[in-house]
Amino acid sequence: MSRIWLSPPHISSAEQQYVQEAFTTNWIAPLGANVTAFEKQLSDFTGRFTLAVSSGTAAMHLALVCLNIQAGDFVFCQSLTFAGCAFPVLYQGATPVFIDSEASSWNMDPDLLEEALKKYTEQNKKPKAIIVVHIYGMPAEMKRIQQLAAEYEVPVIEDAAEAVGSVYDDVPCGSMGDMAIYSFNGNKIITTSGGGALIAKRIEYIQHARKLSDQAKENFLHYEHSQTGYNYRLSNICAGIGRGQMEVLAERVERKRENFQLYSELLSSISFIQFQQERAPAFSNRWLTVMNLQDHNNGGQLVQQIQVQLQKQEIESRPVWKPMHSQPVFKNAPSFINGVSDSLFQNGLCLPSGTALTNTQIKQIVSIVERVVCNEEIVI
Ligand SMILES: *Cc1c(COP(=O)(O)O)cnc(C)c1O
Repeated sequence: MSRIWLSPPHISSAEQQYVQEAFTTNWIAPLGANVTAFEKQLSDFTGRFTLAVSSGTAAMHLALVCLNIQAGDFVFCQSLTFAGCAFPVLYQGATPVFIDSEASSWNMDPDLLEEALKKYTEQNKKPKAIIVVHIYGMPAEMKRIQQLAAEYEVPVIEDAAEAVGSVYDDVPCGSMGDMAIYSFNGNKIITTSGGGALIAKRIEYIQHARKLSDQAKENFLHYEHSQTGYNYRLSNICAGIGRGQMEVLAERVERKRENFQLYSELLSSISFIQFQQERAPAFSNRWLTVMNLQDHNNGGQLVQQIQVQLQKQEIESRPVWKPMHSQPVFKNAPSFINGVSDSLFQNGLCLPSGTALTNTQIKQIVSIVERVVCNEEIVI
């Protein structure tokens, strides 16, 4: 019996050919034809300027550097996220201020954001950026968030690491903020084995980030550096994988959504299980299907039991992201909390959502969930 992973890479037929090209032409080192072509695909897809980099975290770091965020600055950040989204705020010596989620999309609560903007502006601590996340692929309430950002004149950075292929009001996630990031880590909807992208409305940001990502080399015959640089470029090998993956993105989104559809239909027999709500004009890539047992979780025990029983059958599942405001590393960070992300962490479980998963496997997973919830003995 082979193990069922949460969201493993799903390679099509084209990737090897692009990687092979890199070998044939000996463009193994950073940059080269695959990187150029991959960035063109990303720009065509987003309608924005793009830079392919070594990870989503690197892309977020570059976004903060482009916005000149430094020690003493405040950055508002969605609390329900993966740490790679928030760590770059610490790299810059700035202070993250975590904002809790609303219960429908599980993303940044616009009411809390408004409260935080008001309070911090009054105290002369207006944030230098707002990082909003489209968690598990579900678009955030961008309309209100963008309105508030415009009103207070604060740039928005979209963390679309999990939302490649998601759309809001006919605009791809990643194309709404002043800047955005994608991740192509191994478990994301498409992968380069490891990689990411910075996306920006203004070409100046990408030009600046491109230079910094390649050790901030100045235009001299020798190596001259007048700024701090980083080694963040994507390798030409990895970009070859990305080229092939971009060609199948639409198919991957379709299958992720079918996974979700089947899970939600089969689990509708258990009345209290809920999912992220896709409310117009949001269209989610449904990167992961995540169920929420809400207050029927017996103090957190049911979710744990489900996870253990799945594990026994070689099926991987995972708790919802532990919110940043509850992470030891961010214990000194201020936060605006309403209980939503803490409750999701306690009562949510991410179900296997790979695009190569079969309907039979989904039915098998659902039957295990049902048996635990209905307290039946599991025969192994
Ligand atoms: C994966 C992820 C990142 C970081 O991307 P890496 O490519 O792994 O560095 C950032 N934010 C979110 C929400 C993610 O899921």
